Amino acid sequence: MSIAEAPRTVVPTTITVRSPMTGKVVYSVAHADADTIDQVMQRARKAAAAIASMSISERVRQIESLKYWIVDNSEFILDAILAETGKSRFDALSSEVFSVCDVIEVFMKMAPKLLQDRKVKTPIFLLGKKSRISYQPLGTVLMITPWNYPFYQGIVPTVTAFLAGNSIVLKPSEVTPLKPLWDKLLKECGLHTDALQVVYGGRETGAELIDARPDKVHFTGSVAAGKKVMAQCAPHLIPVDLELGGKDPGIVFDDVDLERTVNGVLWGSFTTSGQACTSLERLYVQEGIYDSFVKLLVERTRQIRSSTPQSDNSRCGNFDMGAITAPYQVTTIENHIQEAVEKGAKVLCGGPREKGSQHIPPTIVADVTHQMKLGSEETFGPVVAVMKFKTEQEAVQLANESSYGLGASVWSRDLKRAVRVAKALKTGNVSINNHMITQANPCLPFGGVKHSGFGRIKGEDGLLAFCNVKSIGIDKQGNKIDPHWYPFTVEKYNLMNNLLLSYFGRRRNWIKFLASALKMDSIGKKQKLK
Ligand code: NAD
Repeated sequence: MSIAEAPRTVVPTTITVRSPMTGKVVYSVAHADADTIDQVMQRARKAAAAIASMSISERVRQIESLKYWIVDNSEFILDAILAETGKSRFDALSSEVFSVCDVIEVFMKMAPKLLQDRKVKTPIFLLGKKSRISYQPLGTVLMITPWNYPFYQGIVPTVTAFLAGNSIVLKPSEVTPLKPLWDKLLKECGLHTDALQVVYGGRETGAELIDARPDKVHFTGSVAAGKKVMAQCAPHLIPVDLELGGKDPGIVFDDVDLERTVNGVLWGSFTTSGQACTSLERLYVQEGIYDSFVKLLVERTRQIRSSTPQSDNSRCGNFDMGAITAPYQVTTIENHIQEAVEKGAKVLCGGPREKGSQHIPPTIVADVTHQMKLGSEETFGPVVAVMKFKTEQEAVQLANESSYGLGASVWSRDLKRAVRVAKALKTGNVSINNHMITQANPCLPFGGVKHSGFGRIKGEDGLLAFCNVKSIGIDKQGNKIDPHWYPFTVEKYNLMNNLLLSYFGRRRNWIKFLASALKMDSIGKKQKLK
């Protein structure tokens, strides 16, 4: 039984959006009902047909108008994001608005080139024929997104899927639906009617949308939900991308510049209050610099300026950290810290949050092991577990000792060693002497391995993920029968064998090959099926 079929007795019919900064209600929005979902899907299919027949230059023109809308309305967008996420304004500007424009700019150039029909070679077996690849849309793509980067997560797959010729139905997180933002954007941004439609609701709404049989599901969220989404897609064979959680390791070797690396690690761990799927959560520091590195890390962590429920973070850009967006995440984060302390870990800095607030101070915890949740499960908050290693081999082993495989970072002046370690890590992405720079580059594909999911967003692979990559083989209407068509004869068999031996053998025998090929050709001209 899918979630959509399950009894819906406890499902609220309205989402109440609250500010993570103050706890006050921002607005309410009704869950989409079955009729609404039906109508949305019908409109999406109609739009898909129109977008598929649109030229790529027209799609690019529309995406460009979306980009200008974003730039012209950036302050409005930031206000809308901050009202629902409580993140710092700088985080929202750099990681959501600026990054989205970066992605659009890259894909406006990449899509027309990559989506052109491509001629490819035809092998000897099919001599005289032609082959090409044609990139066609899938139809309607369902995007289900989380609450940590609600604008970015909604727009980036939308842009790529639309450029590939699809219509999009977006189901944003019930924690951050961003309704005022999507309403204005859809009215003003210049995309084709119903190219993008937004459906509000919780996981049941997501499940009902999957039951409406979109042509693809692009899911970003937790591992638990990803497994359910995949199971629900399976009976209908709906293709699915799963962009799931992570527990990113950072490996710091003893030859680094301390000040720079501490600052990089600090940002990688605490940006958006650690609520990034690729936040640096497990830090492995080589024993020679462990004490001095951790001392400086604690010092710099104490200098981070967090907003408080009393401070007005929403207007200015000079707070480093904001609030935890989802109230339930606060509980998870505190449970991880508490369990680690009970099992012998030591909190070096951080501390209890102000009662009733969703602000957790940046926290460094030492003496963590992989037997603790803090060392193994996704914490998704401003907490770093610091551990010590001796050798390169041990660092790789510790970093790979995880069910997750999303991102990682390696810090060393020795770039040869850093690249070697990057290749040995079982993850989808690795940054060297930085953290998350792979995500920041739209030319690079992004995604995970192991429990972090599969499928890629961004990069060429990410664009092709929204295409039916269609192969077309072209033959002439001549008067010849192909060698591999009926009737099969002993003569043809022997000639085929000669072709195999003369062409693919250790020494190519051109004379034998050409003689056999000409003979085969002349049989094809004469041969008729009786
Ligand atoms: P979540 O899995 O609870 O929810 C994500 C979205 O899925 C929401 O819109 C939710 O309504 C919907 N959903 C949940 N269960 C569903 C179901 N059974 N069927 C259909 N829809 C369902 O995750 P969250 O708490 O909103 O987000 C945090 C998680 O997302 C973290 O684990 C984080 O690492 C992950 N994340 C991953 C990436 C990535 O690119 N790999 C990016 C951002 C966040």
